[in-house]
Amino acid sequence: MRINIPKDHPRAESLRIREKLEEGFEKGLVASAGLIAHGRGEAFDYLLGERTIPPASQAIRTAAAMLLTAENPVISVNGNTAALVADEIVRISKSAKAKIEVNLFYRSTEREIKIKDRLEKAGASNVLGVSREADARIPELGSERCCVDSRGMYTADVVVIPLEDGDRTEALSKMGKKTIAVDLNPLSRTSQKASITIVDNIVRALPTLTENIKDLEGKSDLELERIWKEFDNTKNLKKCVEIINKRLTRMAKEAN
Ligand code: ATP
Repeated sequence: MRINIPKDHPRAESLRIREKLEEGFEKGLVASAGLIAHGRGEAFDYLLGERTIPPASQAIRTAAAMLLTAENPVISVNGNTAALVADEIVRISKSAKAKIEVNLFYRSTEREIKIKDRLEKAGASNVLGVSREADARIPELGSERCCVDSRGMYTADVVVIPLEDGDRTEALSKMGKKTIAVDLNPLSRTSQKASITIVDNIVRALPTLTENIKDLEGKSDLELERIWKEFDNTKNLKKCVEIINKRLTRMAKEAN
């Protein structure tokens, strides 16, 4: 049900994001489990203060550098991602010369086509992974997410995996691919297994990623490689947990 969200509502932005997901659900892009996954993300966003924290900014810059040096980068898109940031996905795909591939946990050709249509409406020209085009398999992965496009994720060197599950992140790493996750939960298996984890809301992280790609475009491969080779994901995640911890400790003190 749509309501008129007052501009000065303290949770206006969060409600607007929910509304996009509800709309995506009604149109058949988002799976019901996607709504639940969003709730988990929201809870962590609350703990982070609903802002892009400094370790996330560092991870975003590192991700931009990695994308610019990739030979065959691919962005994996699920229902929530398409409903929330389709325009931004297309922008990143153009600026980083990355392919876009649909990949769903709850797979159905109907939903894949709807997601493809949404991406094309946003300006994408060649969306991979739909139906039989997902002709290759990620080894050792049980879920439907193992089906990938041989022109895309199967042969990619760098895969952007927003809102991913841990098993697939691990399986992609085992195939020798570098992974860039966007996940508000620094404790999730995805966050722990990815090469770079951006602990931020996808609606904030992706526009910043586009800006960083533009900013780094003129740099040499050597400079760009240095940026991502120096990055330590485990340390970065630790900083995110410390920020949550400090915030909660301060709030607990204030409550006394
Ligand atoms: P894992 O298998 O990695 O431990 P999970 O089972 O907790 O993950 P899923 O339900 O598969 O997670 O995926 C949802 C993940 O996406 C959650 O970790 C959640 O924090 C994150 N998430 C949800 N919405 C957003 C969002 N808007 N921006 C960033 N992250 C989000």
